[in-house]
Amino acid sequence: MKPAHTPEIWFVTGSQNLYGPETLRQVAAHAQTVAAALDADPGLPCRVVYKPTVTTPEEIRKVCIDASASPACAGLITWMHTFSPAKMWISGLTQLTKPICHLHTQFNRDIPWGEIDMDFMNLNQSAHGGREYGHILTRLRIPREVVVGHWEDPAVRGHLGAWAAVAVGWQEMRNLKVVRFGDNMRYVAVTDGDKVEAERVFGVQVNTHAMGDLVAVVNDQSDAAVDTLCAEYADSYTVVPELLKGGDRHASLREAARIELGIRAFMECGGYGAFVDCFEDLHGLPQLPGIASQRLMADGYGFGPEGDWKHAALVRVMKVMGAGKPGGTSFMEDYTYHFDPSGPRCLGSHMLEICPSIAAGKPRCEIHPLGIGGKGDPVRLVFDGQTGPAINASLVDLGNRFRLLVNAVESVSITEPMPKLPVARVLWDAKPDLQTAAAAWILAGGAHHTCFSLSVSAEQMESFAEMAGIECVLIDESTDLRALKRDLRVGETYYGLRGL
Ligand code: MN
Repeated sequence: MKPAHTPEIWFVTGSQNLYGPETLRQVAAHAQTVAAALDADPGLPCRVVYKPTVTTPEEIRKVCIDASASPACAGLITWMHTFSPAKMWISGLTQLTKPICHLHTQFNRDIPWGEIDMDFMNLNQSAHGGREYGHILTRLRIPREVVVGHWEDPAVRGHLGAWAAVAVGWQEMRNLKVVRFGDNMRYVAVTDGDKVEAERVFGVQVNTHAMGDLVAVVNDQSDAAVDTLCAEYADSYTVVPELLKGGDRHASLREAARIELGIRAFMECGGYGAFVDCFEDLHGLPQLPGIASQRLMADGYGFGPEGDWKHAALVRVMKVMGAGKPGGTSFMEDYTYHFDPSGPRCLGSHMLEICPSIAAGKPRCEIHPLGIGGKGDPVRLVFDGQTGPAINASLVDLGNRFRLLVNAVESVSITEPMPKLPVARVLWDAKPDLQTAAAAWILAGGAHHTCFSLSVSAEQMESFAEMAGIECVLIDESTDLRALKRDLRVGETYYGLRGL
């Protein structure tokens, strides 16, 4: 799916008029050089746009208001090259609605020991200018990323790139529209939640269309388009013979293709970035969307089954955050445990809907019965997941606020064949270990549904939660259950007091 705007990060340099025009000319030249270098860096996922140095409260307020109003601007990298008295920033910062990254750097890496004089000191004073600026952000209680180091350092570039990807993801969340085809699965708690509050906190719009509205669009898809899509399936996947043209069950593949075309058309027409369905509410559809959900996720759409709109939104946003990175991102569910003491594992999967962006090899396209829902056998893609460091992230509604949970995992290779398991699957080693990770997840109230990603880091999810102003509970190598319980109690107080 195409973004509505090509995202930009604005590069804003703070100074003042105390130093005279020659110093400000050098500040501007340095800022242009840094901004151009960041713009050219392939590690940053969007344009970096240089803005003229701001030296007065009026200039600062204008750039903050312009950034807030710009649909393209996803955030600001701010740099205090010199000393920019921070009372000048109060008016602008209190009107800014976009995320801030405070780049605490200076133009020269090294002190020129033999040449350094007071002119050099006046020009290169971010070491204290950045502290003045940081103070007012802290006093204004404005969350931001602080990146410290020389601007040419690969680690600094990597941190800036990771933050920029989160800012673009947050921008997506602010503008996202999720369509619900069907309501929540009956009686399920964690996939439900407060959609009004979600729109207030995240900006995401979550609205319903009757299944009949979708069915009308599905039935409207032409036979020629279905032929073309079936041919694409045959080219892209190892399709079992019974589903191929001339096979006994080719009609089921055509049904699945028509469903994919219909959902895709509905999403494009309505400007939706994510959708949910529910196996209990498929009136008029011949089968539960399997390959359709999988392929739409692979194209960047968010998806949640059983009416799970929070994870549909999260999948879309994490796909935006991970765009261009190796790995992939998918809806996921903790399904079954392997409690072998020599290597406890969790098998992640779902009834059908795992995104082929995380597939280790060419997926097989198969058809099998589904034990629930009472519809025709659904067509699905079956594969093993890629290996490597990954995360599971979950967004839950605690009644008075949202909490984001993140568990660092290592996706491992599946060495045993599972010839009777007709769904895509991933096997992981949860950090710090399965027992601690599962206990921590359960104590923190995490969902059985998650977004699994090999492309987005736990640190990025923490940045995302800061941008959203919500709690993030990270379960990783350093997790200790006693400390985690204490952190949950602290979070209950802190986020409760904030009224989130
Ligand atoms: Mn489920």
